[in-house]
Amino acid sequence: MPRYPRADGRLDFKSLTLDEIESEIAGLGSEKFRALQAYKWVWQRGATTFAEMKNILTSVRAAMDERFYIPVLACDGVLESADGTTKFLWRTDDGYAIESVLIPDGDRLTLCVSSQVGCAMACTFCLTGDLGLKRHLRPSEIANQPLQIRAGLAPGTRITNIVMMGMGEPLHNFDNLVAALRTYLSADALGFSHRRVTVSTVGLVPAMQKLTELLPVNLAVSLNATTEEQRLAVMPITRKHSMAELLEACRTLPIMHHKRITFEYVMMADFNDAMEDAARLFLLLGGMKTKVNLIPYNENPSRDIKRPSDQRVYDFQTFLVERGVQCSVRHTRGIDISAACGQLGKADSRSATDWFSRNRVIGPRGDGAIGCASG
Ligand code: SAH
Repeated sequence: MPRYPRADGRLDFKSLTLDEIESEIAGLGSEKFRALQAYKWVWQRGATTFAEMKNILTSVRAAMDERFYIPVLACDGVLESADGTTKFLWRTDDGYAIESVLIPDGDRLTLCVSSQVGCAMACTFCLTGDLGLKRHLRPSEIANQPLQIRAGLAPGTRITNIVMMGMGEPLHNFDNLVAALRTYLSADALGFSHRRVTVSTVGLVPAMQKLTELLPVNLAVSLNATTEEQRLAVMPITRKHSMAELLEACRTLPIMHHKRITFEYVMMADFNDAMEDAARLFLLLGGMKTKVNLIPYNENPSRDIKRPSDQRVYDFQTFLVERGVQCSVRHTRGIDISAACGQLGKADSRSATDWFSRNRVIGPRGDGAIGCASG
């Protein structure tokens, strides 16, 4: 695993696994359990310096400080939608902009996390695709999104679900994704249940197989079409992995023994929203333990694509439901702040709020925990 040394040679503490930290600490001549102590300080209590880790000997803290740095994302602004959806604009230390979206829904609070700066998949309907891929996010940058947002939540509020549905194709950044997921799932770190973590993919077949062998997280596949030609027209990845190959792989994934796979289906007017599509989709998914999530297209001025009428979406859903397919419609959230599906990457922070200072919880150190650089 890359350790992302800085110019001064120090390693990115938050991109290392606990095992890796333990062997580094052993190399410093300290006891192994110091690694777990520091790890918990960072991931559970939000520590951003070694100096504040009061139960660790001063000399060990100093040695750690020479070996590692603890990165945080700078916050460029927070945008709040009328519907309660909140978008966080972050800046990486090399100056790239990334985004996360927090979506309250009943007793759920879902965080949509980015995995790359831009995206290489070039799906024709998606705005993030216009950016191309700038770079992969590091494990620390993927895991800092929930860590830093958690630190700013009001008392009694917690993130319940994580979806890897922000900017980027998570499985294209495989090793860093897996390292970050381990941080999400570890009881010594962020402590999310694997039932509450979902990775969404365009369908990178070998990586899907590898992921489900490694970790028991939920998988969502963006299908978006019902014939090879149709999918090829909007998702170039189909040239590499045909829809037939993708669906066959989905049928045989090890995860299928205990989980349902979700198929996301972006509905675009007069493209893939006909009843013939519903009928074909039903046949394609035949016999699989699945959930279908219909996403009515979120329009934007740079595309000719239209959202189908509510009636059309309802008829499509009804067709599947009547035939026993579990099928929901994803309600559009955060459209007024460009936080909806497919809209990430064009952020304008002029209407940013002081969300962090308003919601800020006083952390264990009494100094406001990890805040927002601009808040
Ligand atoms: N690369 C991954 C993760 C991104 S998730 C993936 O493709 O699954 C983003 C989801 O939003 C995908 O299901 C994508 O198909 C969908 N999407 C992209 N642009 C959209 C738009 N304009 N309206 C609605 N959904 C869109």
